[in-house]
Amino acid sequence: MYSERFTKLTPYVPGEQPQDRSYIKLNTNENPYAPAPGVAEALRSYDVENLRRYPDPNADALCRLIAETHGIKREQVMVGNGSDEILSFVFFAFFDSSRGPLLFPEHTYSFYPVYCDYYGIDYKKVALDGDYLVNIDRFLAEQGCGLIFPNPNAPTGMLLSLDEVTRLMERWPEDRVVVVDEAYIDFGGESAVALIDRFPNLLVVRTYSKSYSLAGSRLGWAMGSEELIQALYAVKDSFNSYPVDTLTQKAGMAAMADREWFDKTRSMVMAERERVSEALSAKGWKVLPSEANFVFAGAPDRDGKAVYEGLKAQGVLVRFFNKEGLTPFVRITIGTAEENTALLHAVDSL
Ligand code: PMP
Repeated sequence: MYSERFTKLTPYVPGEQPQDRSYIKLNTNENPYAPAPGVAEALRSYDVENLRRYPDPNADALCRLIAETHGIKREQVMVGNGSDEILSFVFFAFFDSSRGPLLFPEHTYSFYPVYCDYYGIDYKKVALDGDYLVNIDRFLAEQGCGLIFPNPNAPTGMLLSLDEVTRLMERWPEDRVVVVDEAYIDFGGESAVALIDRFPNLLVVRTYSKSYSLAGSRLGWAMGSEELIQALYAVKDSFNSYPVDTLTQKAGMAAMADREWFDKTRSMVMAERERVSEALSAKGWKVLPSEANFVFAGAPDRDGKAVYEGLKAQGVLVRFFNKEGLTPFVRITIGTAEENTALLHAVDSL
């Protein structure tokens, strides 16, 4: 009844979004703060009459603002319905395993193998260092048709410096694309967008879901050489893919325009991350050094599954990954100060 392609799929399992009771929800790396006030204002003042028209298919005004914000050309930007949609174009456009497997870190965003299965791309998981850091030299030692990694990595939260990314790009073959998935870069990292003019085979993928508090709007973008961006447009316009809707385009512009709100909210998340990390370490937990809006941490006396269940019973939802090598840990999204304090109390009652 099914095609062979279908039988090979292992679908992505998203984080829980329970509706049964109210949880302190620290499991899907959403931002605990509201979007910039200008977002509400833009939506309130929008003339609904205009919704009878289709959206601008290429979201030109939004792309221009993104380009301006990052000091690049409009032709170096494309937006999509969440970075997950951008990634689906990326896998189709750039990775062809007749030239070797696609490389990505052993522990990383679990959508990558799902896309590979979907498009029939072979892949190779490249081991992390013993301290869970992505290792550039291990990537360089492999012959891959391409490379993708989040920076900071997920679910570890650990960051590669811009110097390390530069060292990778200087040694990586020019005819193979490297994608840096910067979903969490705004919480302490330095973006590889600074390198896209120097390396035409480097694509940076970003999202509005985390540092701009717009996960519900589904908006992401890619930045790279004009050549890579044109390839992504060719894929996008060949699929039955939808343009970013009009209201989301407006919301995205208002969110990016408010630099003050952006800086304030991400600073609060980063300060709380340090507080949670220190408090858990003081309780004897192993906490990986995070530059993201979450921490990956393991209790001294029980595994991640027991922690996940014990916290859930107390109304605090975190994420457990039932994968070899990750089972000592849970991933905890940084919430508001009150939510984090509640988490730390719940940890004491485990
Ligand atoms: N990349 C990474 C590393 C992520 O963790 C996520 C969020 N789960 C995404 C991409 C997708 O983000 P979105 O589709 O919400 O833009």
